[in-house]
Amino acid sequence: MILWESHACLPLHPAADFSPMDELRAAGVNYVSINVGMDMNPVPQIMSVIAAFRANIAASPERYRLVSSVADIREAAAAGQLAIGFDLEGAMPLLEQPEMVALYRELGVRQIHFAYNRNNSVADGCHDEARGLTPLGVRMVRAVNEAGLLMDCSHTGRRCSLDIMAASAKPVIFSHANPLALVEHGRNITDEQIRACAATGGVVCLSGVSAFLGTRTPTADDMARHVAYVAGLVGAGHVGIGLDISFRQDELNDNPPGDYDPTYWWPKAAGYDRAVQRMTYTPVETWQLLPEALRKVGLNDIEVTGVMGDNMMRVAGMVWQHA
Ligand SMILES: [Zn+2]
Repeated sequence: MILWESHACLPLHPAADFSPMDELRAAGVNYVSINVGMDMNPVPQIMSVIAAFRANIAASPERYRLVSSVADIREAAAAGQLAIGFDLEGAMPLLEQPEMVALYRELGVRQIHFAYNRNNSVADGCHDEARGLTPLGVRMVRAVNEAGLLMDCSHTGRRCSLDIMAASAKPVIFSHANPLALVEHGRNITDEQIRACAATGGVVCLSGVSAFLGTRTPTADDMARHVAYVAGLVGAGHVGIGLDISFRQDELNDNPPGDYDPTYWWPKAAGYDRAVQRMTYTPVETWQLLPEALRKVGLNDIEVTGVMGDNMMRVAGMVWQHA
């Protein structure tokens, strides 16, 4: 069984301690997508973070491997290495240049969504005015398809996400999102979005963030309840896991330089109290507890294997191949 973690966050700082990756590896995770930047982070910060994370991976080849194919992931699993790819949360680091997508791919970025909660010149955020995908956004979807990155719609406005899924020639994912039908929150996604994602051949990966799961101390059983809902709607073959654990290291200040207003990116009106400081996450051990929790909500062994990672392996196998 391959365990695929669709989204995890380290401090966006070149001195970030990489040891949380060992916790994931010890919990049996085979592949993790690590965030390297959001819309509020300037490109110099993102480049500095990518360089540092790449150096950490290169320094421990017995433990880590930067991967570009599902074959790489299987080889890494056989060798006891944690397979790693990077993701971007927002299109602003693309500098309105579609050719930046392929450049980021060369650096290890394997997944991207286009807006972080707020609108930009490419796409809409989920906590902003609905406009739809912009003409530049249509070109960006094409660039993501051609470069062979996973097109993600987390944090994206509802209407805009439907536009992206209609425009994409490849399966589209939600790397960390939860059903609105279970928890009323602007970050959560409608049944229409979930159905549209499945129609692309994609996967909805459930997040383990307290506010989006609707519980203060989220557990594997909470995750399983959300998995069961999406599986009931579109089938277990379209469900995955993106716990979105933020491995905070309080001694590091990874805020963007200059004027930075967290309440713009995490608006109080959208239900964020003091930004994200009060959010809690399902613990790393959730990976060990999930298979049993999924069986309890009625999934069979093949469905469990799919949700834990095989479904994302299928999608990545289709998307990461590029010309
Ligand atoms: Zn996120």
